[in-house]
Amino acid sequence: MIINNKEQLVAEFKKLLAEQTNTVKLIVNKNIFFKKNVANLYTQLKALPADQKRNAGLEINAFNQELTALFETRKVQLDSANELTNNKVNYDLNIDTYNLAKGSKTILSIVYEQIINYFKALNFQIVDGDEVTTIENNMDRLNIDKTHPARDPKDTFYIDTQRMLRTHCTSTTAEAIHNQDREIKVLSYGNVYRNDDDDLTHSHQFSQIDIVWVKNNLSINHLKSVIDGLIKHIFGNEVKTRYRLSYFPFTEPSFEVDVSCFNCGGKGCPMCKQSGWIEILGAGMLHKNVLESAHIKKINSGLAAGIGIERIAMLKYGIKDVRDIYNNDFRLLNQLKGVK
Ligand SMILES: [Zn+2]
Repeated sequence: MIINNKEQLVAEFKKLLAEQTNTVKLIVNKNIFFKKNVANLYTQLKALPADQKRNAGLEINAFNQELTALFETRKVQLDSANELTNNKVNYDLNIDTYNLAKGSKTILSIVYEQIINYFKALNFQIVDGDEVTTIENNMDRLNIDKTHPARDPKDTFYIDTQRMLRTHCTSTTAEAIHNQDREIKVLSYGNVYRNDDDDLTHSHQFSQIDIVWVKNNLSINHLKSVIDGLIKHIFGNEVKTRYRLSYFPFTEPSFEVDVSCFNCGGKGCPMCKQSGWIEILGAGMLHKNVLESAHIKKINSGLAAGIGIERIAMLKYGIKDVRDIYNNDFRLLNQLKGVK
């Protein structure tokens, strides 16, 4: 008999196990107990005369197994208790799933998708780009001269002397065509920023799509074909388009594109301010200075257009206040369920 106080030790160990409330503490205390009361038995075993070793070894092993079994039983108990507690925290199987409302796409996503799908079908490459851009991409490479009012800090959010929040997605398309001296079709989209006070029709942040197609010998006919197709895709085959000469620094010639009023069919109504036409987007042939700053030499022409997503959304869905688009009003969102 090598273990004199076996019963006392077993009782002590049982008490210790019962006191533990989680698995980690259980393992730590079990290890301390074994180190103190079991490991030393094996040291003693080594010192015993050869004829006593076998029996003593069996006795120690049996003792070790008895304690280990007690530990395992307690561990299983604690594990399943923890599992129950965890289940209580993580899952409530009684939640009524009938009340989980189905969402809808936001109005901006709907319009974005419509327009992007049209250009995808024309093999345009789609990029979103960074909202923080360089003054070089946003202004310098786009033929916006140093005195242009768009550079005024009252109109633009500057980050430092080189960087700014993009004021149009044209900065992203400019970056995409830079040094690409080949035919290229790019569409960029996303948030743009201007230092405007928010009101019915203005917001300091809004959404744009900008497209650029660089290819030899493109003409105004190509531009009209792309834009007319887009407008019919958005507003239906009945609408007509009208191109008015305009001015943008990065295109020459530049056009404001109008669509015949889809509300009154062109007769005149409050929506079209009695004119029968609604201004939809800006477009034009890329200015030669823009091609030059992009280091495009082998290709002699390009066309471009910029589309305000909020404006299209407001016109198409009859929204009077641009802020309604951002306010997450469920009454508006609920009306969009199922709209594609
Ligand atoms: Zn009208």
